Amino acid sequence: MPLMLIDHAELHRMASRIFEAAGSSPEEVRVIADHLLEANLRGHDSHGVGLIPTYLQHLANGTVLANRKGRVVSEDGPLIVYDGERAWGQVAAREAVMLGIARARQTGVAVVALRNPHHIGRVGTYGEICADAGLVSFHFVNVTDARPAVAPWRGTDARFSTNPVCIAIPGPAPERPIILDMATSMIAMGKVRVARNKGEQLKPGTLLDGDGKPTTDPNAMYRQSRGAVLTFGEHKGYALAFVCEMLAGALCGSGTMRPERQGRGTATNGMLTILIDPSRLVDREWLREEIAAMTAYITASPPAHPDEPVLIPGDPERGTRAQRIANGVPIDDETWREITAAARSINVLIETPRLKPQ
Ligand code: NAD
Repeated sequence: MPLMLIDHAELHRMASRIFEAAGSSPEEVRVIADHLLEANLRGHDSHGVGLIPTYLQHLANGTVLANRKGRVVSEDGPLIVYDGERAWGQVAAREAVMLGIARARQTGVAVVALRNPHHIGRVGTYGEICADAGLVSFHFVNVTDARPAVAPWRGTDARFSTNPVCIAIPGPAPERPIILDMATSMIAMGKVRVARNKGEQLKPGTLLDGDGKPTTDPNAMYRQSRGAVLTFGEHKGYALAFVCEMLAGALCGSGTMRPERQGRGTATNGMLTILIDPSRLVDREWLREEIAAMTAYITASPPAHPDEPVLIPGDPERGTRAQRIANGVPIDDETWREITAAARSINVLIETPRLKPQ
């Protein structure tokens, strides 16, 4: 499937025009477009502009509401419960995390339970915001109101979703935070979509078909009898996915992916965020030096392949970002066709993009 390299500023303008036409205020347009473009720039195309067609379907079916503001349901010392009230998840999750940052600065620690936003996108975004604020953060996420996509270890059909987890820690240098941000499934669902759109097969050991048998065909997730993605790391990934479901779904109040919460044709994320001000535990400069020294030691391990040095979590995304700002963001033809068709449905005409020279 051919790929186009499109300048990131042009993609940002396109996303902005679409969300403006979809009724969002200029501030909301900026938050959503920035979030989607950052996901593309950091190499997570699963959570970039390719989500626009699905998002517009959800807007049309009334399961996400433009310009909706979430609200604080309760506050109790360091604990905040925040209801996203079906707002765009990028907006609600950002607001909830900002409240958590302010609280952690006062009390040293904060716990934010986010419930009922629309899909919050790339969870690393929120870890990066916390790390920028000098905090350590943990984010556990589940999904409801969609068809399940991930099979439990030892199971053969999908019972929950890709339940991502993010842990962010200030890094060896301010511009190099440690950002662990990953689905607990072998791959994020959006990456199955990207593979399907590119006409690619998935790695063996990633997917089961509708009969519970191993397959490499991403179309297995789009048939009536739906397949299932496997968890990463065998039983360990499953155990982590399981606790994400309970922490983000049950503890935060959105609920878990029980059969009665699978049929709404949208995506709701619950997110439990725990923030710690590290300077309440150790001296900040000592911490930075310790992290820098250990990072240097770990990454000095002789690489198994000379052109693949040892990295820290967050490095691959920063590398891809620099490369894509210089060379453009790769978008396959099918994804482009889906985005332009979705834009047309709300009367936004997208011209053929000016391509970066390859
Ligand atoms: P992935 O498999 O690419 O893993 C990414 C993580 O691994 C990052 O922390 C990255 O820095 C780290 N990493 C990669 N290579 C590394 C290396 N060589 N050395 C050290 N660290 C390395 O990501 P994924 O599981 O496909 O998830 C993609 C995105 O999807 C994430 O941003 C996640 O938040 C998002 N997601 C969102 C939802 C939702 O419901 N909102 C659901 C699932 C996933």
